[in-house]
Parts: sequence; C-alpha cells; structure tokens
Amino acid sequence: MTRQLPLQADCSIMTPGPTQVAENVRAALSLPCTNPDLDPAFYPFTRGICSDLEEFFHATDQEALILSGEGILGLEAAFASLTEPGDRVLVLDNGVYGRGNADFVKLYGGTPVLYSKDPHVPLDPAALAAYLAQDHDFAYASLVHCDTPSGILNDIGALLPILHRCGILTVVDAVSSAFGMPIDLGKEPADILCLGSQKALSAPPGLSMLLVGPAAWDKMARRKTPIASFYANLPAMRDYFKKQWFPYTMPSADLNGLRQALNNVLNDPGIFERHRKIAKAVRKALVSSGLTLYESAGYSDTVSVFLVPEGTTDRAILDGCRKEGVMFAGSFGFLSGKVIRIGHMGENARKEKVADALRVLDKVLGDLHVPLQADLEQVFLSELSSS
Ligand SMILES: *Cc1c(COP(=O)(O)O)cnc(C)c1O
Repeated sequence: MTRQLPLQADCSIMTPGPTQVAENVRAALSLPCTNPDLDPAFYPFTRGICSDLEEFFHATDQEALILSGEGILGLEAAFASLTEPGDRVLVLDNGVYGRGNADFVKLYGGTPVLYSKDPHVPLDPAALAAYLAQDHDFAYASLVHCDTPSGILNDIGALLPILHRCGILTVVDAVSSAFGMPIDLGKEPADILCLGSQKALSAPPGLSMLLVGPAAWDKMARRKTPIASFYANLPAMRDYFKKQWFPYTMPSADLNGLRQALNNVLNDPGIFERHRKIAKAVRKALVSSGLTLYESAGYSDTVSVFLVPEGTTDRAILDGCRKEGVMFAGSFGFLSGKVIRIGHMGENARKEKVADALRVLDKVLGDLHVPLQADLEQVFLSELSSS
C-alpha cells in the first residue's frame, strides 16, 4: 500500500469560502501541539484571541467565544442555546442561509415564522418595520448579513435597531462578510454575531467564533428547559477562562492557525478598502463583458455572483476553469445550477489572484462559445487602477 502525503490543493481556490490559506497560517498550524486542558498557558492564549476579536468588532459588552467546529456549529449553537420549546422565532429570509435558519429553530423546538422576501435585493428596513407594527411577538429573530449562495448583502445597521426597538433579540450570520467588510457592534448591535474561520479570515475550515451580548446570555439564563445539546451549547463554553476548564479538548493546532490569521488581519489596516475596490472592479468586469449579476442591489464585497450564460452550464464553466487551475463555485438550494460565484475574500482579495482568475474565466467562457463584449481581466485591472 502506498502512503500519500496530505492532500494538496492543486489549483487556486477562488471560492466564497473556504479561501486560500496564507503560508504563515499554514506554518502556525504545524507548530508543536500542547495539551490544551493541562497547559496553563493555553487559557490566556485563547482569551487573547477572544479579546482581539472583541476589539476588532468594537464589542462593548459582547463576549467572544471560539467553538471547535466549522461555521455551522456556531450557528447551531446560537439557535440551540436561545431556542426554548414554543418560542416564536422570526426568520428573515431573502436567501438560502436565511431560509435555512428555520430548520435550526424547528430542530430545537421553536416555531419559525418566515419573513420571506425577494432574494435579488436586500431586505427593506421600512417594510420590516411595517410588518413588526402588526406582529412583534417574537422571542428572537435571525438574519444573514451576506447570504453567500446569492451574494446578497443585508443592511444589518438599519435592520437590527428596528428589531431591537420591538424588544426582539437578534442572531446574525456574518460568516461570509466578517473580516472582509466592516462590522461594528456599537452600530450593528447583534445579540449574537456568528463568524467562521474559513471565509475572509482565511484560516482553514474548522472553527466558529461568536460574539454574544448580555441580552442573549440573559435569555439563556432564564431558560426553563436545558439546552438540548452538549457541543452546540454557548453557556457551557462561557466561563472557560474563569474556570480554567474547557468542556472538551480544544483543537490547539487550529487555534494556532486562527491566531496567525487574525494577526494577518490586524496587521492589514487597508483590508476593507481592498475588498471594496476589488469587488467593485470584479462587478464592473462582469457587467462590461455582458454577463448578468444575480443581485440587482446589495452587493457584498466578498463574493460576486453571475448568472450562468445561455447555452452552457455551471458544470462546464467550473470544470473548464478547474482544468486551467482556478476553482470557482456554483451554488446550491434554489440557486443550484443557476449561478457562478467568484470568491474575492481574505487572501483571495488580491489584485494578481483575481486578475489571474478572471483571465481563466474569460478563456473558458470563450472556449464554451459564450460571447463576451469585453476582456474580463483588462476591465478589472483598468477599473482598479482608476479607483
Ligand atoms: C459558509 C457559510 C456558513 C458556514 O457554512 P458552510 O458549511 O461553510 O457552507 C454559514 N453561513 C454563511 C452565510 C456562509 O457563507
């Protein structure tokens, strides 16, 4: 039997998560491992990452937690910890993740009330306010900042205060926007903000981070029924530093990677500006070449989404690009087969990487006889240099 080296990425990962992992993060992942439960240095090390997260998101009284599981674990833990049987939960839905949150609510005994709107545009704050004027008897609400399968970006700064004014707690999925777009908990006061390691932070998949505010902790403390999960349980993790005890062994290698990835972000003051310019230039290139963006407003700086052109398929485009060394993504849910997604977040939000990727996309679309009215790479580069 032959033994293989670990699986290597054989192409440029231009997907909206996971993203390319920087070399210094990969080096940090390979540092010697400790025993996270018994090594007294591991508690302040973990706490240090959490305090940096709190500072980065301008937390006032929110506490950061790190859970050992991909972004979905953080989401599930938020829903598991907040939901009590019988809770009515308002599920804001204008995308695949938005709608999917209803499943978590149901799973933990709550009653989801879907507020479903056009997935091509961001949620309208005035319409939400009008809806809540009729009915605001909700234990909490869930919403998504960037709904990645469509790329739609909701204005959480406008939506959250409307919910809070009605006394409704909020869970915000910011997995694919955070670290690529500014989020300020002072102005966007989510009661629980959910983050992941493998999107704009550009660490490998495997960790969830959450910022949890006092009103959310208070709802958990007032529960009449126990949280129906050991692993997806926020209070269980809350006092790890005070108690010098984790409910389960932390993945020390992943935390080393997270520490380095976060250092990279903290040392990169132009990070949001870079994402903004690159996103704008990618959209300009797509539109100038005659491709059609999925959304008609509310574009995220982390991902661009365009319709699969007439006469070809997402598979043909994705396979063609992979053969040329670039991995893009199709989509899923109600968007399956309909769109192509270009991730330009974190380590992928670099001029050279995006230019290379667009050159490949241009070539592959040409091979598939999709007529383009402009050169994707050229428009991208000229837009970037003029911005
Ligand atoms: C990536 C992502 C998650 C985490 O889920 P995956 O298993 O990585 O797909 C959650 N929410 C959003 C909006 C995401 O983009």
